[in-house]
Amino acid sequence: IEKPKKLHAALLSSPGMGHLIPIIELGKRLVADHGFEVTVFVVPSQASLAEVEIIDSAMTPMILEVVELPAPDLTAAGLGPNASMVTRLAAMMREARLAFRSALAVMEARPDVLIVDLFGTEHLCIGDELGIPKYVYIATNAWFLALLLHSPTLDKEVNGEYVDQTEPFNIPGCKPVRPEDVVDPMLDRSDQQYREYLRMASEIPMGDGILLNVWEDLQVETLAALRNKEFLGPVANGPIYTIGPLIRPVRPAGLEKELLEWLDKQPSESVLFVSFGSGGTLSAEQLVELAWGLELSRQRFIWVLRKPAVKSLDGSFFNVGKGGGGDELLSFLPDGFEVRTRNVGLVLPSWAPQVDILSHPSVGGFLSHCGWNSTLESMVSGVPMIAWPLYAEQRLNATLLVEETGVAIRPKELPSKKIVRREEIEKLVRMIMVEQKGHTMRARVKELKTNVEKAVTKEGTSYESLRKMKDDCKTRIHQIKKAH
Ligand code: UDP
Repeated sequence: IEKPKKLHAALLSSPGMGHLIPIIELGKRLVADHGFEVTVFVVPSQASLAEVEIIDSAMTPMILEVVELPAPDLTAAGLGPNASMVTRLAAMMREARLAFRSALAVMEARPDVLIVDLFGTEHLCIGDELGIPKYVYIATNAWFLALLLHSPTLDKEVNGEYVDQTEPFNIPGCKPVRPEDVVDPMLDRSDQQYREYLRMASEIPMGDGILLNVWEDLQVETLAALRNKEFLGPVANGPIYTIGPLIRPVRPAGLEKELLEWLDKQPSESVLFVSFGSGGTLSAEQLVELAWGLELSRQRFIWVLRKPAVKSLDGSFFNVGKGGGGDELLSFLPDGFEVRTRNVGLVLPSWAPQVDILSHPSVGGFLSHCGWNSTLESMVSGVPMIAWPLYAEQRLNATLLVEETGVAIRPKELPSKKIVRREEIEKLVRMIMVEQKGHTMRARVKELKTNVEKAVTKEGTSYESLRKMKDDCKTRIHQIKKAH
């Protein structure tokens, strides 16, 4: 008997590690658990070593096909030197449309389904051109999606800048959003990135469904609001699939010998891991305060250190790879820091195997910028967090972790607004590592970990959700065929 033909999914990743990782992981799941064939198309940012490693993880053994599109030429896009990250991403994705169409055209067979990420919504029309169903994978959480989908309404209702409002924004059926927590593209309504953001919000409902990188139990109320026609339902066209957490697996030999030996020597859950994602950077002044805070806390730590940002306080992943060498980096720290902390701390330059470090039993806390991948990785490893949001939707994520999920603490004021001083850092570190509050959060995050482990089994909600998406996809394919 002839085997039924596998469904072939084309996945499109926007530039940046934080976008590439969840797309690759989605591709792997579709292949391994649901019998798809997958081709991932990558719009490159800069060829960083880490990016190559992520792609390699999907190619050896050959799990899925990865096609790197040519780097978009932005000279015609007319971007000013201060164009924001979202504006740049949107411009890159727009420019990549021609290359994506050409790459699809030379494929042996047309794919059966198209999946794009948040920045790829302008590519949904390519699904229509090919006559195939198309989905949007929002690789973050439901509260972000709710705010995004509700933004065109807020745009009509709110006068003036969002950050200047005194009352939280009501999103039907969801936890209200504090003005200081709005996402970066909402910070300045006259900026192009705000228009791009509203455009994405209006394009998402054109897809046949939305995939979210959460599991059902994590955000019960918000998901209910997103699915309720009286709340946010009508703004999302198709179903919402909760397929997460899709994160990189721990690699058996992921830690270099030296690092592993060091970690093995430390007591259980005694090390704080400090890292700000693939591109988060601190100001020079903040780096010094953080170094003092860590030292004063007398706790063990691993710190992924990156050169300070020139424009202070802010972070941006376009800084990737500009980390500089170890010695140069140490010059940004207080004199003698390395010697004084030699027995308790490790400073790693620029990039570290985060998933492998977080999963080591000696790690007991994570000072994180709250990028959604990092957040999921921390929860899956059962590690509580100090939330240190910098950019994108990280302030929203931090509030979710502190106020809803109960797995993080945070500085009194936003680190993206005000320098966090050493005394406060010392206190936060001690609180999470040795005080009762830390123990309570650790217990809570371990409950979550168990909950996640259930969700991703064959009987679990996340597995089932992706299976359902496959079924719905087949139904759509038949409907589209019939309609022609
Ligand atoms: N990452 C890593 N090593 C580093 C910094 C980051 O492996 O030194 C990985 C991290 O594990 C996560 C991703 O890069 O999977 C960063 O994604 P996230 O959404 O947390 O933040 P973003 O980089 O998008 O701001």
